[in-house]
Amino acid sequence: MQPAVMATYDRFDLAFEKGEGPYLFATNGRRYLDFGGGVAVTALGHCHPHLVAALERQGKLLWHCSNLYRIPEQERLAARLTAATFADAAFFCNSGAEAVECGIKLVRKFHDLNGAPDRYRIIGCEGSFHGRTLATIAAGASPKYREGYAPDVDGFDHVPFGHIAAVEAAITPQTAAILVEPVQGEGGINVAPAGYLKGLRALADRHGLLLFFDEIQCGMGRTGRLFAYEWDDVAPDLMAVAKGLGGGFPIGGCLATAAVASAFSFGSHGSTFGGNPLGCAVANAVLDLVNDEGFLADVRAVATSLQQGLQQIATKHPGVLAAVRGKGLMLGLKSVVPNRMLIDRLQQNGLLAIPAADNVVRLLPPLIIGAAEVNEAVRIIEQSCTELAAKAA
Ligand SMILES: *Cc1c(COP(=O)(O)O)cnc(C)c1O
Repeated sequence: MQPAVMATYDRFDLAFEKGEGPYLFATNGRRYLDFGGGVAVTALGHCHPHLVAALERQGKLLWHCSNLYRIPEQERLAARLTAATFADAAFFCNSGAEAVECGIKLVRKFHDLNGAPDRYRIIGCEGSFHGRTLATIAAGASPKYREGYAPDVDGFDHVPFGHIAAVEAAITPQTAAILVEPVQGEGGINVAPAGYLKGLRALADRHGLLLFFDEIQCGMGRTGRLFAYEWDDVAPDLMAVAKGLGGGFPIGGCLATAAVASAFSFGSHGSTFGGNPLGCAVANAVLDLVNDEGFLADVRAVATSLQQGLQQIATKHPGVLAAVRGKGLMLGLKSVVPNRMLIDRLQQNGLLAIPAADNVVRLLPPLIIGAAEVNEAVRIIEQSCTELAAKAA
């Protein structure tokens, strides 16, 4: 029988009724340590008092008014995001895919206005994920997400992630931009090798291409810097953000330099809900906390201790874990047993984690965790690995 909700997700038989900081409380009466964060969305944990206060305050003033009018909360969010990044301007939307889609349109419009309408192709990477709209499934690497949706949106080429020479070889007179996640999420937590982003910057400059980062998953403090590209001391021309930006409220954004952003003028693009007062009030509250050097230093410190704990477990249980990888609090356990089996076991023991490609178990804890949560997670992961190793023996 056709379920009332379309069957697009292979869901765990688990539902939650309440969230509090790093914990989720399920309808089965159990409490779970949430190291999935709704896929890196609840960056400040659940129902953070500062976010709840912002939501309640704005909820009593104004939710929506349309981009036909000025929206002060949106202007403030744009000003703060641009002050904190390479960017000079922002466009707001409701999701990650829309943020990437906006960037794709911006890339095409930019070259079109510069007298090169033939330059429309974007080089992306194998293992990449950019969303589920028709253009973003074409931009992403996974053929699985394109199956049955032919014809593909034209204009996307793919090369192996991390190889500068492969990108260079793929550049043609039609190439418009290079699109890359500084840390791949869905692809299995793959960190760009040292020098890769800088190499892409140099290639883009040499060939007149735009450099487009997708920081939807790795941005907003996830790696211990506000945005992951900061680690490599390199700036893109445009960047997509979402997920953690709203801390659980759906909002996305496309940030760009003035040179790129100026390609958009009245009517070039739009969104009914994008950048509404409610979403922007919450995103501003997220920024209040995350865009703070002390906060980010804490993220880096707690990440180091979590990484050390995980590394010790991997060393002890090579039959279950092949490697620990990632950056900051964007971590992947490369599993030896099927990743879903490890995730089920972690769940039975009270920890939520998320699958990724390449048989990886993703850990995306809220950025507010401390030593207690690290200890609890490490204990549960250790116990789960011990149980799985015993089962295999
Ligand atoms: C989640 C994600 C997207 C898509 O975001 P949606 O909000 O699901 O549309 C795009 N790119 C990356 C890197 C993501 O992690």
